[in-house]
Amino acid sequence: MSKRDYYEVLEVSKSASADEIKKAYRKMAIKFHPDKNPGDKEAEDKFKEAAEAYEVLSDDNKKARYDQYGHAGVGGAGGFGGGGFGGGMNMEDIFSQFGDIFGGGGFGGFGGGGGRQQVKGSNLRIRIKLNLEEMVNGTQKTLKVKKMKMAEGATSKTCPTCNGAGVQMKVMNTMFGQMQTQTTCGTCQGIGKVADKIPAGANAQGLIKDEEEITINIPAGARDGIQLNVRGKGNDAPFGGIPGDLLVIVEEEVDNTIKREGDNLHQELYVSFAEAALGAKKEIPTVGGKVKITVDPGTQSGKILRLAGKGLPSIDSYGKGDMFIHINVWTPQKLTKEQKDFFEKQMNSGEMVAEPSGKEKTFFDKVKDLFN
Ligand SMILES: [Zn+2]
Repeated sequence: MSKRDYYEVLEVSKSASADEIKKAYRKMAIKFHPDKNPGDKEAEDKFKEAAEAYEVLSDDNKKARYDQYGHAGVGGAGGFGGGGFGGGMNMEDIFSQFGDIFGGGGFGGFGGGGGRQQVKGSNLRIRIKLNLEEMVNGTQKTLKVKKMKMAEGATSKTCPTCNGAGVQMKVMNTMFGQMQTQTTCGTCQGIGKVADKIPAGANAQGLIKDEEEITINIPAGARDGIQLNVRGKGNDAPFGGIPGDLLVIVEEEVDNTIKREGDNLHQELYVSFAEAALGAKKEIPTVGGKVKITVDPGTQSGKILRLAGKGLPSIDSYGKGDMFIHINVWTPQKLTKEQKDFFEKQMNSGEMVAEPSGKEKTFFDKVKDLFN
């Protein structure tokens, strides 16, 4: 089961306030509470899912990490035998949240739990660096991934403790009388099988270190910090379980020439003194390929050209951001004898002087323009 987005789980927007998140969780907790839905596995799962989402979104630190890195940022992916419930919360943890939510009191405890688990191999995490162009247009990467695989020749037998059921029954004395509870079998951790023959080099679960070449398709529009889930490419599960997933975390390669700001991109363009005075044609790299631009004669340093739609595709709407070209006029630092003579002549004649008309855009005008 791939993990749902925490905001989606609580049915709130990404900009929801702490109070809204709390209210949304309260609603979910009441709706899916096990006391109200006895024996309903789906409700129980939803109850746990909501609790996990709230645990992260109600904690400023965890929320920030989740907003940036997704589930990977908050250790949300369940390890092997973790019962499929990520952050390591159990029912006790969940009920301890309620002091905060319901102002003390709240619900009573919750019996049951346990049960034969679908055994899944542990997830693997890798980071992958992509440049802006690869992120915008999508790409394919083939990587060698180190992982645990079922060793050849490893065999299993039925767990002698639970006879393959994966659970053990326990009788507890409570104030309501005797209660029977199920717990995960301690011998096989719920798998129902234990190792029989283990080849040399493999661990007690019959797994051995190996390497696999995996091709990953990165969809267009990837962002820094997003996590792609390649199903079934994580570590193998012991004895007939399903393999874990490979979680690929996308990292943006730092580009020193192009800066991004939301969907917009900014880049500096240096032109020579002569190009600024006489005008010039220039080629600019963009994420969609090279684009020709015209530098008008008499262009001032600091002018900003806007290439509409040459930014990044917007994440939450149609359309694209823009590319802004910041023009810098490069003042010559080494002059030949002739050039020096030329500039001296110009200076002394008083013909080449700065003469702003008053209509030039100030720095503040330019900033204002960027937001229009
Ligand atoms: Zn067992």
